[in-house]
Amino acid sequence: MAKMFGTNGVRGIVGDTMTPEFAHKLGRATAAWMGGQGTMAVGRDARASGPALQEGFEAGLHEGGVNTIDLGIAPTPGIQWWIRQADVAAGAVITASHNPPEWNGIKILEGDGTDALPETERAIEAQFDSIAGSGNGGGRRLEAVDPNPGYIDAVVGLVDASAIRAAKLTAVLDPGGGAGCVTAPTLLEALGVTIIPVSCELDPDFSDRPSEPTEANAAACMAAVKEHHADLGILQDGDADRAVFVDETGAYVDGNKGLALMAGFEMERVDPAERIVCTPVSTSSATVDAVESRGGRIEWTIVGSPPVARAMRETGSPFGGEGNGGFLFARHQFGKDGLMAMARLLEVLATTGQPLSALVAQVPRYAFAQDKIPVPQERKAEILAAFKEALADVPGITGTDDRDGVKANLGAEWVLVRPSGTEAIYRVQAEAQTPEAADALVARFKAILESLL
Ligand code: MG
Repeated sequence: MAKMFGTNGVRGIVGDTMTPEFAHKLGRATAAWMGGQGTMAVGRDARASGPALQEGFEAGLHEGGVNTIDLGIAPTPGIQWWIRQADVAAGAVITASHNPPEWNGIKILEGDGTDALPETERAIEAQFDSIAGSGNGGGRRLEAVDPNPGYIDAVVGLVDASAIRAAKLTAVLDPGGGAGCVTAPTLLEALGVTIIPVSCELDPDFSDRPSEPTEANAAACMAAVKEHHADLGILQDGDADRAVFVDETGAYVDGNKGLALMAGFEMERVDPAERIVCTPVSTSSATVDAVESRGGRIEWTIVGSPPVARAMRETGSPFGGEGNGGFLFARHQFGKDGLMAMARLLEVLATTGQPLSALVAQVPRYAFAQDKIPVPQERKAEILAAFKEALADVPGITGTDDRDGVKANLGAEWVLVRPSGTEAIYRVQAEAQTPEAADALVARFKAILESLL
């Protein structure tokens, strides 16, 4: 049985592994997992390959006896929101998130709109290899529905819209030509925010900037904030489940700082007993500080937003996130949401009356460093186990966490060694008070790994 699903569904290069034929077969396998009955809602991001992949996937579902509802182009969280409130058995999104335009992917959702559980993905993979024959052909497309208006209304309903309107904010909006183009401008209009648009037209080729909302890709947004004296800049990725911000001086707000900032305000909304933030082991200590200084605690997870969402449900946590612009609000839904994140930040700006740069300045500064080290695939597990054992002899370690790779805490500093899921390498990441100290930590733990090889 082939393992097809990665951390965010199945992804591949269009025309290589990701073809309408593959989508068709995956549709058949998914229908078999669904027992050849029920209805699945399917939407997509704006990539040029999306319609053909969706058609292939739906055809496979129909052959396998499953009906479909077409949700068209929508952000992943908009599709998740619609599925949660609709009466459907499951959902899917045709998206490769922030990957380059030649990529695409298929992400399966449970009937409540959350990311497919690992056991669901294993069950679909198990069906994939045994698909044979033409299927019973009992399914059909029932209707086409636009999930976006209801989704936008739901987000508006979760913030103090009148306070945001009264603040008369100006925002540079840069969805990068991705699926956020069909929701983010409407949300800002509904909240009375003046929009300076950058890459606000759907663009299947991401020709203005790469879809990942990194600082390097934020130049146009940063320049527009300065030029128009905007209160903030907002960037989203290709399927608009992530949001990253630019402050009113035109400075990029690192995703880890954005997370720490948001975590602090989210903790203040709830009773002390509910102050739990779920986040992966790779997240900056800035978020730990923001949560612990408010009497809350961190619930650590493995890397990826689906594990964060599951931990939030299990612990009753109101908020979770990742340091790359992924924010999850339990009062909205258990999935990261770039539209909800921008609405919430606008609410924070409106209600505090403070400029974003002043809020970011309150977030503790940590320096981050990373490197990689080649490790043959077949030795990955063995070397990681040996590394964990070797840590017992390293002075200064105050705790370790091996839920995803091995993380060693050294007081306020930490080092994380994680095997790459796809490449024959380990990634070595470290955080410390200064860039020099972070570099030194990476070098020191890389040397330990090298001695084990
Ligand atoms: Mg994404």
